[in-house]
Amino acid sequence: MESKNLVIETYAKISDLVMELSSLNNLDQIEKFIHTMISRLIIIEEEYFFTTDEKGNINSKNEISEEIKDLAAWAAKSLKISMFPLDSGKSALILPFSKSQRLLLIYICKTTVEEISNETMLFLNILSFLTATIIENLQLYSEILKTNKIVEKNRDFLNQILNSMISGLAVFDKSYKKIFFNSNFEKFEKAFGDEMLKFIKNELINLEISGEKLTKEYEYKNHFLSIDFLKTNDENYLVIISDITGTKELERLRKLDQMKTEFLSTVSHELRTPLAAIKAYSESIVDSLEILDEETLKDFMLTILNEADHLQNLLDEILDFSRLEMKTLNIKKENFSLNELIEEIYISNKNKAEANGIKIYKVLPKENIIVNLDRTRVKQILSNLIDNAIKYSDKRKDMKFVKITLKSEDDKVLILVEDNGIGISKEHHEKIFEKFYRVDSSLTYEISGTGIGLSVVKELVEIQGGKIWLKSVEGKGTRFYIEFKKGK
Ligand code: ADP
Repeated sequence: MESKNLVIETYAKISDLVMELSSLNNLDQIEKFIHTMISRLIIIEEEYFFTTDEKGNINSKNEISEEIKDLAAWAAKSLKISMFPLDSGKSALILPFSKSQRLLLIYICKTTVEEISNETMLFLNILSFLTATIIENLQLYSEILKTNKIVEKNRDFLNQILNSMISGLAVFDKSYKKIFFNSNFEKFEKAFGDEMLKFIKNELINLEISGEKLTKEYEYKNHFLSIDFLKTNDENYLVIISDITGTKELERLRKLDQMKTEFLSTVSHELRTPLAAIKAYSESIVDSLEILDEETLKDFMLTILNEADHLQNLLDEILDFSRLEMKTLNIKKENFSLNELIEEIYISNKNKAEANGIKIYKVLPKENIIVNLDRTRVKQILSNLIDNAIKYSDKRKDMKFVKITLKSEDDKVLILVEDNGIGISKEHHEKIFEKFYRVDSSLTYEISGTGIGLSVVKELVEIQGGKIWLKSVEGKGTRFYIEFKKGK
């Protein structure tokens, strides 16, 4: 019965101990707790606490006598609870707290008690074990806090770097969900919207098929992005966005500059050819006027006239181009019949087309279509398109034609200029309207031109509220469409 009571009492003590220990959260509190516990067992005269550092050295907060220091050193080695007789006739209780042979704390107190009972020893063992566990936990906890702080600091540092990058950076997981992004990625998202995200997701699907890395360009409202897609080691995707609008613009300006240089040399060449012909024929006339019969003289004069016309057209085109560039071109709108204008253009181009082995057709509606536009400019637009249709005819074809069609569509009017010439491959469709742009191919290299005709045509159409586009198949032919509003 007595031993049963003892067991109950011991358990009660241990449970009290555990309860009290669990509320401790720093070394000071632990030291106070040890003091309270020991003072319940023996009379304490003096007491000392020793802590250990990372190197295993033992330290105390207070001044300690050599005798006690030796005891602490012994405790650090033995790691055992013991009572030690002192020279003064008193005893010292030595209580080391260790975990897995690692010393965490030493408690030493001077007391008048000479011996301790087995029961007290058992209790001290339990106290030492439980307290050591708590100290170790506290140490681990403080290490975790320290590590967390380091991790946090590193994360802040990394975030700072990522956010100071000019590029947008994001990580997408396997299901293409964005799991991380820097502040610039967010900016790109805001500026380029959902369409860009859709584009990114599609390209990530492509990356899945195509390999480890992919770079794509994305264009939106005259802005250009270069987007890199990479697979990471942990099966996620890294997406890096860079704004390359500036580089693109620089590239464009450089190209424009180069085109201007080419344009100047082309123009000089274009001017020199008719001028040389005019000079040669005029010289022949001057030198041999007496021996030239009337017919030959007329031929020579006609050639001079044609070449002079050619020169004039060329100079007019350059002049219009520069006026459009400087925004000084005047548009004089008037009401006129498109049917009549096309009839006029048809007649004036018939001979030229036939001389080149090309049949020219016109398809006009019965209804007389009146528009309110600049008649001279509309004539210039259509003449230019017909000139090109003749110029870029396909020498390999027996039946060559150029066809002008006028169509009335509700409140709009559509003019088609069609040919079965060499055609234009798809990649050039947009570009041929750019200034100085010429298609460079084995079929075009012998055909002279400046590359400004269609850019002038487009400006002239748009300045009058119209639209121009084309359909063309290389080797088959080309059809230009012009749409204007009907009306007086
Ligand atoms: P160019 O002075 O070179 O004719 P344009 O601006 O009129 O300049 O035309 C630009 C380019 O478009 C031409 O160099 C030519 O390659 C192409 N092009 C224009 N019209 C036609 C056409 N009807 N058929 C085939 N190519 C054409």
